[in-house]
Formats: sequence, C-alpha cells, structure tokens
Amino acid sequence: MSRPCIFFDRDGVVNVAPSPEEYYVLSPDRLFIEPAWLEALAVVNERGYAAIIVTNQKCVHKGLISQAELDEIHQVIRDAVSEHGLEVLDIFSATRGDDDPDAKPNPGMFFKAASEHDLDLARSWMIGDSARDIESGERAGLAETLLVGEELSMEDVCQILRKRLPGEIDSRHGMVGEDG
Ligand SMILES: [Mg+2]
Repeated sequence: MSRPCIFFDRDGVVNVAPSPEEYYVLSPDRLFIEPAWLEALAVVNERGYAAIIVTNQKCVHKGLISQAELDEIHQVIRDAVSEHGLEVLDIFSATRGDDDPDAKPNPGMFFKAASEHDLDLARSWMIGDSARDIESGERAGLAETLLVGEELSMEDVCQILRKRLPGEIDSRHGMVGEDG
C-alpha cells in the first residue's frame, strides 16, 4: 500500500539556512541541523509517514563542490537522524542547475520519490521556506504545503504536524534503514 510522505526542503528547514554571504553549504562543518526539524521528524516517524528531503543544489552544477562532497554533507544529516533514533527514507538533490527538469519549482523529484518508494502523493505534504518549494509541492499534487518563514516557525510546524497527521496509518516494516 502506498504510504504518504512528508517532504522537507533542506536549507532553512532541515538545517540552518546559510548566510547570504555563504549562500551554499559547501562543507560538512557548515551544516547545522535545526533542532526543531528533528522534533518535526520525530512526529512524522511516529505517525508512520515517510520522510524525504528534496533539495536544489546548483552549487554542484557550478563546480563549487562535487557530487561526492554533497554526499558527505548529506551524511551529516543522516548521522544526526540516526543518532536520534529517527529515519529519513531518502534525500533527492537537483544538481544540474537552472535547466534541471527536476529542480524545484518543477515537481520532478516528488514523482521520482513516489515511484522509487511507492508513495501516495495525494496524501503527502511539502514543508519549505521558499515560494518554489511551495509551487513544486502544488505541482506534484500534494495534499498540503507549509511555508516556513516569518509567519510560521519550525516549532509551529511541529504543532501542526502533531495536530493534523493521523496516527499510525500503516506499517513501516521492511522499509527501515534500507535506503541510506
Ligand atoms: Mg530552503
């Protein structure tokens, strides 16, 4: 049975957004996990929803880092998640620049995730901090999109997830830790 997923943007949601000067996270020691995201992830895991990160990383296309270096940065996220006994099913990155058909606001990463992981997009949500995150989620036909920013903090997002995600909707057996 397809299960729903909470999709998270990366910079500004999973981790502290890089400063305007840095603009990109270019090394593992510049990635700082948002504690409130781990709380949100705990709710998502507990309710039996999949959790997936979808991120545009044009810095690879620009040659600022390699794909291997991006993978190292993402390992910081995976390590923090497992240290907290939590799960992220996958991380999708659009790295081919503005012409990347998967780059948000295009919905390509959602469709890939749905086919690789048997997800029900019509019951899934996107949580992001930019207009293109919201647009991509809408174009993918998701049930809900939440824009983190001045009006909505990650703490608010936790509350909303606690209130609105139904409990234990289906089994996670067989899907735990297979996708690292
Ligand atoms: Mg962002």
